Amino acid sequence: MSEIRRVGVIGAGTMGNGIAHVFARSGYDVLLCEVEQRFLDRGMETLRKNLEREVAKGKIGPEAMQSALQRITGVLDRNRLADCDFVIEAATEKFETKKTIFVDLDRIVRKDVLLATNTSSISITKLANVTSRPDCVIGMHFFNPVPMMKLVEVIRGMATSRETFNQVRDLAIKLEKTPVEVNDAPGFVSNRVLMPLLNEAMFAVMEGVATPEAVDAVFKLGMAHPMGPLTLADFIGLDVCLDIMRVLQEGFGDPKYRPCPLLVRMVDAGWLGRKSGRGFYTYE
Ligand code: NAD
Repeated sequence: MSEIRRVGVIGAGTMGNGIAHVFARSGYDVLLCEVEQRFLDRGMETLRKNLEREVAKGKIGPEAMQSALQRITGVLDRNRLADCDFVIEAATEKFETKKTIFVDLDRIVRKDVLLATNTSSISITKLANVTSRPDCVIGMHFFNPVPMMKLVEVIRGMATSRETFNQVRDLAIKLEKTPVEVNDAPGFVSNRVLMPLLNEAMFAVMEGVATPEAVDAVFKLGMAHPMGPLTLADFIGLDVCLDIMRVLQEGFGDPKYRPCPLLVRMVDAGWLGRKSGRGFYTYE
């Protein structure tokens, strides 16, 4: 395995631009890959604003911001990732989308390059199996907002080698994150526990038990959560929440993971939370 200098990030959405941000801030060259220029532009715009916020707070200097931005190159052609030393995928939470990406990456990048996924719930083992290097495939699960959240769940698939795990754990530490080792199971630890909580909060709203504001107030004031479950669901993205519930439902085959019908209806309506301007709350 060669030293990691150049990192490919697939997807410039909520997570992808945050992941590109932390790699670039830590001195890595980043190729940020999207499917359309407008998504790339939107991701770069968010990234720039987030860096500016860090400058305003005195966390980094203006020069550090400029050099981080200069280290990031946006690309639309996945083949441009050929000379990357590490690739992390943060595309839409659909197995078929990720499968296509992994099949392609396996063909494009050197055989010793580790392929990571930021998936919230999809089986690492299953994704690894679409490549010819399952020992080099791993879950590297960042949390939102990536530049601020310390945790990285590092998920070992059935075939992930100890060497791959060690390298990704060390990489997380270099990014000033705290890695936690987890084995492969639907939703890993974080979303297996968190998503049913958010889903249940949605049932409470749907059944008229309480308003979103009231549910959130219970968790903020009674459990000292920094944000209530419905604010958090809007923040994560309701489509992402639904995708994760479906992975849990399919993966465990247990009806307790049934997505709340209100969540399904809201996603059908295009109410995806903060990113679309409307979810359980409305946003400017
Ligand atoms: P998002 O919808 O904000 O962004 C996904 C991006 O991927 C979009 O910009 C889309 O254009 C792009 N994309 C889709 N197919 C692609 C392809 N073939 N090549 C390149 N780009 C492609 O979603 P997100 O919230 O950033 O989630 C991305 C991943 O991170 C998912 O697997 C999700 O489960 C996971 N995740 C999300 C959160 C969260 O809080 N939103 C937290 C942890 C992990």
